[in-house]
Amino acid sequence: MTVKVRFAPSPTGKLHVGNIRTALLNWLFANSMNGSFLLRIDDTDIARSTAEFETGIFDDMAWLGLPHDQTMKQSERFADYDAAADQLRAKGLLYPCYETAEELDRQRKLQRAQSKPPVYNRAALALTDAERAKLETQGVQPHWRFKLSGQSVVWQDVIRGQQHIETASLSDPVLIRADNSYLYTLPSVVDDRDMNITHVVRGEDHVTNSAAQIEIFEALGATAPHMGHHPLLVGEDGGKLSKRLGTLSVAGLRDEEQIHPMAILSLLAKIGTSDPVEVRLDINQLVAEFAFSKIARAPARFDPSELSALNAKILHEASYKDVQSKLDAMGADGGEAFWMAVRGNLNRLADATLWHDIVFRPTVPVIDTDDARFLQKAAELLVTTNGWQELTAALKNETDRKGKSLFMPLRLALTGQAHGPDMGALLPLIDTERAKARLNGETA
Ligand code: GLU
Repeated sequence: MTVKVRFAPSPTGKLHVGNIRTALLNWLFANSMNGSFLLRIDDTDIARSTAEFETGIFDDMAWLGLPHDQTMKQSERFADYDAAADQLRAKGLLYPCYETAEELDRQRKLQRAQSKPPVYNRAALALTDAERAKLETQGVQPHWRFKLSGQSVVWQDVIRGQQHIETASLSDPVLIRADNSYLYTLPSVVDDRDMNITHVVRGEDHVTNSAAQIEIFEALGATAPHMGHHPLLVGEDGGKLSKRLGTLSVAGLRDEEQIHPMAILSLLAKIGTSDPVEVRLDINQLVAEFAFSKIARAPARFDPSELSALNAKILHEASYKDVQSKLDAMGADGGEAFWMAVRGNLNRLADATLWHDIVFRPTVPVIDTDDARFLQKAAELLVTTNGWQELTAALKNETDRKGKSLFMPLRLALTGQAHGPDMGALLPLIDTERAKARLNGETA
């Protein structure tokens, strides 16, 4: 069997770390099996889908380095969904219902009050042809429900192990709304069937859905693909992440946080698994390490600080070649020696701007009055010595200072900062006249 999976986002918003984890697990699985990866745009909700979000999905996937082998759009396949709906109708498995939303709500409230499960009562199935005709002449448009078998649906979930869902405890799902639009359930089955998807891998919020969809596959004369449901992401405190996902969009992490794509992929591939979270610079390593059996049943905790830490590690190892064009775009390209001097001090690439400005632009020195004379001495010696080692050795000889009282005033005067890159690497990058002026207390 050649594995074929799909990632099926709706273009009704930006991709975020939650979707990307689903995409990544599918992608890693496909690649670990030499299979293929389909990117499907679930745009049946025409009113909420936009071309901009759709473009964003393609851009984000490309930026992350998750190429697809094939794409498709649900909005181009309504004829196929209509054919499948007709097939179900012919079998008596898709039936028209006329209840209003308020009626259904009342029924559910009543059922709850009687401690009964809020399952649809199938009243519409009992309608006679004459009753249906009457409702339709009154202008009531039907919505259409799939008739579940009432049996238990069992499958071997590739992540959760054996699953049993009693369809008798579920409401028959609505497949087509009264305005004739499709809910996601049927189109997804038709696409998975027609695209020969072998594994449907998605979040565990779809488990119940899967029971209905497995029955729909069978009703259409198809075999359901293998199913895998991964636990959802939660926040670092174990709370729901859903409200914060807006700020955890791929675009935001890329454009605002400047997170390296491999930091995102390294984290999302490993959280909630039995593997430790470590930086991987090559996605092929993540492929080699991938196994469904490593995915834990507990929710995966997403901690933005863990993402920052992985990103910092990647920056600390990045070569000048890796980052040059980005530094240039930020106006922070100070050459290779500059990059090598500062990379170890960066959490985000944007922090390079601070050091670029300190090295190449006028900077206000920080000078304690007690240090002013010592720093004037340093300004004199700066011209006759060569580099930080020689400068500090000469100052040690000529003053009674050593250790922190020797180094800190110099760092504060030269950079205006108490912490930062190794001064041995930084000082040669600062123009000597500029450095001398700062030691003398001038903004230079
Ligand atoms: N568009 C659906 C969603 O985003 C896809 C679910 C699935 O993978 O089947 O929830």
